Amino acid sequence: MKKVAVIGSGFAGLTSAIELASKGYDVTVFEKNSSLGGRARQLKKDGFTFDMGPSWYWMPDVFDRFFERHGKKTSDYFVLNKLDPGFSIVFDKNDELVVPSSFDSLVATFEKIEKGSGKKLIKFMEKAEKKYQIGMSELVYKPSNSIFEFINISVLKGLFHLSIFTSFRKYVRRYFKDSRLIKLMEFPVLFLGATPENTPALYSLMNYTGLKVGTYYPEGGFYSVVKSLVDLALEKNVKIECNAEVSRINIENARVKSLTVNKEIINFDAVIAGADYHHVEQKLLDKKYRNYSESYWDKRELAPSSLLFYVGVNKKLSNLKHHTLFFDEDFDNHAKEIYDEPAWPKKPLFYMSCASLTDKNVSPEGMENLVFLIPLAPGLHDSEEMREKYFEMILKRLNQLTGNDIAEDIVVKESYCVKDFEQDYNAFKGNAYGLANTLRQTAILKPRMRNKKIKNLFYTGQLTVPGPGVPPSIISGQIVAEELDKKLY
Ligand SMILES: Cc1cc2nc3c(=O)[nH]c(=O)nc-3n(C[C@H](O)[C@H](O)[C@H](O)COP(=O)(O)OP(=O)(O)OC[C@H]3O[C@@H](n4cnc5c(N)ncnc54)[C@H](O)[C@@H]3O)c2cc1C
Repeated sequence: MKKVAVIGSGFAGLTSAIELASKGYDVTVFEKNSSLGGRARQLKKDGFTFDMGPSWYWMPDVFDRFFERHGKKTSDYFVLNKLDPGFSIVFDKNDELVVPSSFDSLVATFEKIEKGSGKKLIKFMEKAEKKYQIGMSELVYKPSNSIFEFINISVLKGLFHLSIFTSFRKYVRRYFKDSRLIKLMEFPVLFLGATPENTPALYSLMNYTGLKVGTYYPEGGFYSVVKSLVDLALEKNVKIECNAEVSRINIENARVKSLTVNKEIINFDAVIAGADYHHVEQKLLDKKYRNYSESYWDKRELAPSSLLFYVGVNKKLSNLKHHTLFFDEDFDNHAKEIYDEPAWPKKPLFYMSCASLTDKNVSPEGMENLVFLIPLAPGLHDSEEMREKYFEMILKRLNQLTGNDIAEDIVVKESYCVKDFEQDYNAFKGNAYGLANTLRQTAILKPRMRNKKIKNLFYTGQLTVPGPGVPPSIISGQIVAEELDKKLY
């Protein structure tokens, strides 16, 4: 059996390990942290269970397809519930747009806000669904080594539908006028890490999955999905080691010979690096073996970092939804402070989840489990004082906008920001979501999955193809394993 090492136990690392083990490889996953799942780890404190990273389960077909490849179903491992409402956007006190899980009800909601927009939404979604189908069948599951992978009859026929060269921002405005509807329609592409202006309209496929297919919740939280992959990996005899930091990829005769893990040297036939691409290249490899230079990375547009708070509240709250976006401030100003002139935002938008509304197991009885997230420019100077300042700001706005004053009822509070992303995940500039999916950073224009100089070294995860988010990371793990299997032997 050929021995393959996987660096990192995020979604991409775990799925690549499962794929390779299924193909008959002897696989070991090395994870630097004491727990698995990478950015999707779990925090447990005083009876509260928080998902530290992802909380929106979109694109359920990607999860289903992955498990089906291995003769399993997601329901063999976790219970998935569709949220109703899917989420809500608060624009002001008494001005909230609640997104129902039924598409017909969403059409009616649009119609109420802007006459004629219901029909337009139907049209928009038909096109978005088409993009999703073409994207999933012809574009996303590709290693993106060459443009020729994308040149085939279905793509050429579908090119007209894909709107690759139209900005998402312009595209949405062709359909809708009301500023609240525009904000709602622009929200799904924020998952891709760039502004709607810099995101190709192709990605309206995200609207299809988020607004029509719906938002799901795995019971126990997103970490249930991590656990399911760990279980599947163990069933396939993958070896998984925690507290195992890889400090060097050792090369001999232009091939990886071994890894240095906690100062021990272990031989492997091939390596898949699921840790952040920049870290792997700049810290684990000699300069002459790197695909990209430091200046290449400096020119990349990273997805945002984030300031997060995991908060346990000693009472039940009112007027909240499982997922709420607080869009009561100007999006463009905040986006400017993330992308154009990096700075701590003056008036940030923020997101809050209250998973205890759906799942009684994530907080003690009579209490609530809240996670707050403010997107930030990567690389900002991060200090306790700054974190505190923003926490106070958020609590104030939560109170003003929803009438929930929690300041005196907080029993658990942990924060997480740029420094933690750097320390815990070796994340370049403390990025949370990897590289943004702009047109210039899509498919063949993303950092390559294969090392150009070392035949048996591959990269996977949110900084390579297809991009940021859990479903893309799952796909990334699958594709890289196929690449290794195809190209190496
Ligand atoms: C706050 C937040 C919210 C998010 N929300 C959503 C959401 O709602 N929905 C969604 O779909 N996506 C969401 N995402 C994005 C999604 O979580 C990520 O895209 C995905 O989890 C990335 O997986 P990955 O395998 O590429 O990387 P990671 O999860 O970062 O895995 C890389 C692993 O490598 C390990 N590692 C690093 N260096 C070494 C080393 N030298 N040796 C050994 N191990 C090492 C790290 O510790 C880590 O475990 C969110 C992300 C964050 C941070």
